[in-house]
Amino acid sequence: YALQTGDNTYVFYEKEIRVNYLNNLKLETELRSALEKNELSLAYQPQVQVETRAIIASEALLRWNNENLGPVSPGQFIPVAERTDLIIPIGNWVLEEAIKQNKKWYDITNKKIVVAVNLSPIQFKRSDLPQIIKELLEKYQMPAELLEIEITEGILVENMEGTSLQLEKIKALGVKVAIDDFGTGYSSLKYLQNFNFDKLKIDREFIKDYPQHDTGSIAKTILNLAAQMDINVIAEGVETQEQFLFLKENHCQQIQGYYFHKPLSAKDFEMLLTEKITDRVD
Ligand code: C2E
Ligand code: MG
Ligand code: MG
Ligand code: MG
Repeated sequence: YALQTGDNTYVFYEKEIRVNYLNNLKLETELRSALEKNELSLAYQPQVQVETRAIIASEALLRWNNENLGPVSPGQFIPVAERTDLIIPIGNWVLEEAIKQNKKWYDITNKKIVVAVNLSPIQFKRSDLPQIIKELLEKYQMPAELLEIEITEGILVENMEGTSLQLEKIKALGVKVAIDDFGTGYSSLKYLQNFNFDKLKIDREFIKDYPQHDTGSIAKTILNLAAQMDINVIAEGVETQEQFLFLKENHCQQIQGYYFHKPLSAKDFEMLLTEKITDRVD
């Protein structure tokens, strides 16, 4: 009986692995031509100042709509891009597109709205990254202070000295740095003192269950310590008013989540920005 179960399990896994392998191969093949076929785009999710509820920034989120596969989520294709060499051209395309787009919004609105761009660890480690960013900012005449890069805390733990140096080079350009998905990795707040960065993003993991299955104690701890260390905090994945009010009470400065806005197309984000301006003029 046990043997039989073992056999079935074995067969099952074997099939599973094969299917995953073929799926990933298919993804990789399609992803290789995604750039030239113009299948990539960016969505922009507003980041809101808690006090004023004003939009102060957006996070650029990569979208891929493939002719055969349909829309594929970044959670699926970013790992494939990272395993191949594809994350570099794709990552560079994201940087250029976000910088070009944000400069356009700056010209239209005359307001200093920041755009945040996610960087893969593979992209971040490359020695030519600071130069690439510098050249793109010059090419589009985008103020460096309106670009923020998001890196995950894993990078900090892996190679402290290399990361610290790379961060200094990027900060020297005037670009901002945010630590994404904070709390899900291994680094502590104390550890963060070794690095030059501008803001912490509390991961959705510590927000999503409040108040049904969670008292928000981890979010609270992060916010308290960050306040003592004079670090700016944004919470991501805020979906309800309860969560918003809880974060506000605990002095979280910024919010990103469905409660305010979902990721928007460039066109919709632009409408939102210009609407706000009309409101103020009237
Ligand atoms: P992330 O950087 O932590 O981005 C936040 C993710 O949470 C986004 O998912 C966003 O759509 C989602 N989100 C925002 N607010 C809410 C909310 O209230 N509720 C829920 N349930 N979700 C919310 P998305 O767009 O699927 O991106 C997933 C991840 O893929 C990102 O996580 C990021 O790690 C990666 N990614 C996205 N774009 C890029 C990119 O251009 N380059 C790289 N290297 N990674 C990217
Ligand atoms: Mg992010
Ligand atoms: Mg995040
Ligand atoms: Mg996250």
